[in-house]
Amino acid sequence: MENYDVIIIGGGAAGMMASIFAARNGNKTLIIDHNEKLGKKLFITGKGRCNLTNNSSIETHLNNIVTNSKFMYSALNAFSPEDTINFFETNGLKLKTERGNRVFPASDKSSDVIKTLKNCMARYGVEVSLNTEILEVYKDNGSNCLFHILCNGNKEYTCNSLIVATGGISYPGTGATDLGYKLARQFGHNVIEPRPALCPIVVKDDISDLNGLSLKNVTLTINCGSKSFSEFGEMMFTYNSLTGPIALTLSSLINKFDLKNSVAEIDFKPALIHEKLEQKFLREFIDFAKKDIKTYLNTLLPTRLVPYFMAKINLGNKKVADLTKVERTKIINSLKKFDLKIKSLDNVIVGIVSSGGVDTKEINSKTCESKLVKNLYFIGEVLDVDALTGGFNLQIAWSTAYLAGNSLKGKL
Ligand SMILES: Cc1cc2nc3c(=O)[nH]c(=O)nc-3n(C[C@H](O)[C@H](O)[C@H](O)COP(=O)(O)OP(=O)(O)OC[C@H]3O[C@@H](n4cnc5c(N)ncnc54)[C@H](O)[C@@H]3O)c2cc1C
Repeated sequence: MENYDVIIIGGGAAGMMASIFAARNGNKTLIIDHNEKLGKKLFITGKGRCNLTNNSSIETHLNNIVTNSKFMYSALNAFSPEDTINFFETNGLKLKTERGNRVFPASDKSSDVIKTLKNCMARYGVEVSLNTEILEVYKDNGSNCLFHILCNGNKEYTCNSLIVATGGISYPGTGATDLGYKLARQFGHNVIEPRPALCPIVVKDDISDLNGLSLKNVTLTINCGSKSFSEFGEMMFTYNSLTGPIALTLSSLINKFDLKNSVAEIDFKPALIHEKLEQKFLREFIDFAKKDIKTYLNTLLPTRLVPYFMAKINLGNKKVADLTKVERTKIINSLKKFDLKIKSLDNVIVGIVSSGGVDTKEINSKTCESKLVKNLYFIGEVLDVDALTGGFNLQIAWSTAYLAGNSLKGKL
């Protein structure tokens, strides 16, 4: 049996960062992970480039946190996006800021982010136990109040403080499991049922012909009951779902709503209000009078979309000159509000993050310590906090990791 001041379960973004601050404070620190290497999810972030934070104000970060942004106020003030940038740069990682203030390593390699964290961990003497399955965790409430962690191979570790950094449940191939939720429940915590977030939106309509088609500068609106959410930008069709940046964002905004009877509407021409589009039609119809609708629509929509659009408006392929006012209005309405019935969000495991997790009401927002069990901490995505894309989710991991790691004052 080996004793540590601090044990961290989970060697992802949050776990590695917390270990550095805990060990820097003089704590004998161990990370346990069942994977064969650290940071497997971190490795695939930002399409392998790792968008490690967003170079913007704390307010912008709070505005991009979809669930429990208030909880993150102290964490982001204690360890801000600027602190993240300074941390990586002073530890030798060159960074660059791209469109939308997204920060990446200058090398475009997420592996360099992992390398930087690993170098820091080594400098402060963090120990790591990989390929380690956790069989049982309990707290002996005798005089020592130690946490016991029983692992495969008859290994047993004890620690004074336990940090749970097991992340969310999406992308199981990266080692994601629900162990963190199970431990939280075991210690009396409420866990908000995980919901898909930053994931494709599955539709009932047969859109298989549009698979792979991407649209730029469109507005996607989702109406769920009395609420509606809109995003402008780029989206893509899969064989059965809407994806791409604006669809992913909307999935996070609508995941707390009942999606039965909800509808997605695409505005293919958001820059033109209905009347302007009508004027454009009337102007252009003179030139296209002898052409068929399909030829005209090809000037307005991606060619691959036109047959699907025409089947939906169901006007046949008559000559433009033969269109009645009602038919013209029907085309304009469909260009402005092309509706698709929503079936559901995609499975929680395909989301970029999972929404839900350990109820933040029971966590001290200044330290990430459990309010129910002394010396037990929850950090990173295992918490019921999630954000939009842009580096905001990793900033949640870094900031909460700092709170927990730094609050553990060791022998220094
Ligand atoms: C494809 C993809 C791209 C992304 N891109 C970005 C991006 O560019 N920018 C951004 O801000 N966010 C991005 N994210 C989100 C970001 O990766 C996560 O929010 C972040 O990694 C959460 O950090 P974490 O430490 O809480 O969890 P994780 O990084 O998931 O780490 C959890 C660790 O716990 C370990 N673990 C889990 N269960 C057990 C168990 N039973 N026993 C032992 N160990 C266990 C896992 O092996 C893992 O090492 C992306 C996510 C995905 C899936």
